[in-house]
Amino acid sequence: MGTFLTVSELPVAGRKVLLRSDLNVPLRNGEVADDFRLRSALPAINLLREKGAQVILCSHLGRPKGCVLDELRMAPVAARLSELGGYPVAYATDTVGTDAARLIEQARPGEVVLLENTRFHPGETSNDSDYASELAEWADFFVLDAFGTAHRAHASTVGVPDRLRSAAGPLMEREIEMFRLLLEDPPRPFTVLLGGAKISDKLPLIRSLLPKVDAMLIGGGMCFSLLATEGYEVGDSMVEPDCFNSLHDLLRSTEADRLVLPSDVVTAPELDATAPPSVVNISAIQEEAWGLDIGPATAKQFAAVIGGSRSVFWNGPMGLFEWENYQAGTRTIAAALAGSPALSVVGGGDSVAAIRLFGQENGIDHLSTGGGAGLKMLEGQTLPAIEALERWA
Ligand code: AMP
Repeated sequence: MGTFLTVSELPVAGRKVLLRSDLNVPLRNGEVADDFRLRSALPAINLLREKGAQVILCSHLGRPKGCVLDELRMAPVAARLSELGGYPVAYATDTVGTDAARLIEQARPGEVVLLENTRFHPGETSNDSDYASELAEWADFFVLDAFGTAHRAHASTVGVPDRLRSAAGPLMEREIEMFRLLLEDPPRPFTVLLGGAKISDKLPLIRSLLPKVDAMLIGGGMCFSLLATEGYEVGDSMVEPDCFNSLHDLLRSTEADRLVLPSDVVTAPELDATAPPSVVNISAIQEEAWGLDIGPATAKQFAAVIGGSRSVFWNGPMGLFEWENYQAGTRTIAAALAGSPALSVVGGGDSVAAIRLFGQENGIDHLSTGGGAGLKMLEGQTLPAIEALERWA
């Protein structure tokens, strides 16, 4: 696999650097509700500031679909970044217009200008060449640190590095290093733990990773499609019947013995946060029950496999962990992973949120900022933004 330039290889002192970070954070009442991605973006911004670059920062935020939406403006992001960084972050109300021009013109070495939401421009997601050129014209160099968006060929992720000498930022470097390690030479035994709602999203990953892992543990809503394919009654639990044929083939593949499914689950009589939980064996799920978590025997078994592993990748919660009655499985797994000496990588918004909810972040080697991008890398796909960077190496 290829290589790329890093920030230390660019002569950025006194020069303008366009930095594409992933500042796509959840907002609530006009404020940043979770600043994990902003904290993760700070090292690149700080590195460029220390090196005396004029930092022109950009990112997308949400899905405005090419329209200007006041609720998706970058102003709250600029405010929170400034608080976290301890320096002013000038906020431009456009990306390639007069406000950006004015602030970039005024910026001195070490100062930061945050451009408006790149997805307000219809040319961002279509990778329009005029838009990419206009963005590229702001700067002498480009630094890509937006791992979470590296699987999308957009103007600010692929169009700009096609036009400007480009390097990977420190977060991007670390993310690529961790995922390449897992993909190419994981310390063994290597265990993959998957959960979350949709098995259809993760089928390509399951297929391509299963031959490379020592064990694949499956919990979350997605285990019910597998259990249903095996012939178990799963009641009203979430299933995706369109996947049954593929899952049937998977369960009969030569590597199927590496798949570990739950032996017990926690069910609810109705889909309600206050519904009383029942622990049942997988052969005793009631016709009208909702399977909302893995059971304690399964959590213990999964924790034991994690404890015996030397590397673990986890994506997707083990149950509906947002509801207290159904979070025990995810909590047990988070603690097992944090407490294990294995190299631990957690990817995907919900699993990272779970690790933080249960206060286990210190025990994890790498909390990835990219859900989809990490999964695509583990599927063995080449990410377009990484490919664009590799052309400069
Ligand atoms: P995903 O985006 O596919 O990783 O799914 C994450 C979501 O799946 C989280 O909001 C979980 O609460 C939810 N989830 C996990 N397990 C279950 C389950 N057994 N039933 C319903 N939702 C679940």
